[in-house]
Amino acid sequence: MPIYEYVCDSCGQQFELMRSIKDANNTAPCKHCHSSETHKMLSVFFAHSDGRSVEGSGHSCANCSGGACSGCGHH
Ligand SMILES: [Zn+2]
Repeated sequence: MPIYEYVCDSCGQQFELMRSIKDANNTAPCKHCHSSETHKMLSVFFAHSDGRSVEGSGHSCANCSGGACSGCGHH
Protein backbone atom coordinates (compact mmCIF):
# COMPACT_ATOMS: atom_id res chain seq x y z
CA MET A 1 0.00 0.00 0.00
CA PRO A 2 1.26 3.49 -0.76
CA ILE A 3 2.07 5.94 2.00
CA TYR A 4 0.44 9.34 1.80
CA GLU A 5 1.58 12.49 3.56
CA TYR A 6 -1.01 14.73 5.16
CA VAL A 7 -0.90 18.05 6.96
CA CYS A 8 -3.37 18.96 9.68
CA ASP A 9 -5.17 22.27 9.26
CA SER A 10 -5.94 22.43 12.97
CA CYS A 11 -2.53 21.84 14.58
CA GLY A 12 -0.25 22.11 11.55
CA GLN A 13 1.42 18.76 12.18
CA GLN A 14 2.38 16.53 9.30
CA PHE A 15 1.84 12.81 9.38
CA GLU A 16 2.05 9.85 7.09
CA LEU A 17 -0.70 7.35 6.58
CA MET A 18 -0.53 4.04 4.80
CA ARG A 19 -3.79 3.34 3.08
CA SER A 20 -5.16 1.77 -0.03
CA ILE A 21 -5.50 3.78 -3.21
CA LYS A 22 -9.28 3.71 -3.07
CA ASP A 23 -9.16 5.48 0.30
CA ALA A 24 -6.62 8.08 -0.82
CA ASN A 25 -9.16 10.88 -1.19
CA ASN A 26 -11.03 10.13 2.00
CA THR A 27 -10.54 12.24 5.08
CA ALA A 28 -7.59 11.19 7.19
CA PRO A 29 -7.91 12.03 10.89
CA CYS A 30 -4.90 13.79 12.39
CA LYS A 31 -2.69 11.52 14.47
CA HIS A 32 -1.86 14.36 16.84
CA CYS A 33 -5.14 16.12 17.57
CA HIS A 34 -7.60 13.74 15.85
CA SER A 35 -9.06 16.58 13.82
CA SER A 36 -10.61 15.67 10.50
CA GLU A 37 -9.48 19.01 9.07
CA THR A 38 -6.54 17.59 7.13
CA HIS A 39 -5.47 17.63 3.54
CA LYS A 40 -3.11 15.54 1.50
CA MET A 41 0.24 17.10 0.75
CA LEU A 42 1.82 17.32 -2.66
CA SER A 43 3.89 14.39 -3.75
CA VAL A 44 7.27 13.77 -2.18
CA PHE A 45 8.84 14.61 -5.52
CA PHE A 46 7.61 18.18 -5.42
CA ALA A 47 8.17 18.58 -1.70
CA HIS A 48 11.84 17.73 -2.11
CA SER A 49 12.52 19.67 -5.31
CA ASP A 50 13.86 22.65 -3.32
CA GLY A 51 11.62 25.12 -5.08
CA ARG A 52 13.07 25.00 -8.55
CA SER A 53 10.74 24.51 -11.45
CA VAL A 54 11.27 21.38 -13.42
CA GLU A 55 11.85 21.93 -17.10
CA GLY A 56 9.63 19.99 -19.41
CA SER A 57 7.08 19.28 -16.71
CA GLY A 58 4.37 21.27 -18.49
CA HIS A 59 4.78 24.31 -16.27
CA SER A 60 4.49 27.58 -18.16
CA CYS A 61 4.73 31.26 -17.30
CA ALA A 62 3.22 34.44 -18.75
CA ASN A 63 6.14 34.91 -21.12
CA CYS A 64 5.86 31.64 -22.98
CA SER A 65 2.82 30.34 -24.72
CA GLY A 66 4.11 26.80 -24.94
CA GLY A 67 4.55 24.28 -22.17
CA ALA A 68 8.23 24.86 -21.43
CA CYS A 69 9.96 27.91 -19.95
CA SER A 70 13.46 26.87 -21.00
CA GLY A 71 13.52 29.38 -23.88
CA CYS A 72 11.83 32.44 -22.46
CA GLY A 73 14.44 33.28 -19.79
CA HIS A 74 11.75 34.23 -17.32
CA HIS A 75 13.06 31.84 -14.68
ZN1 LIG B 1 -3.89 17.95 14.13
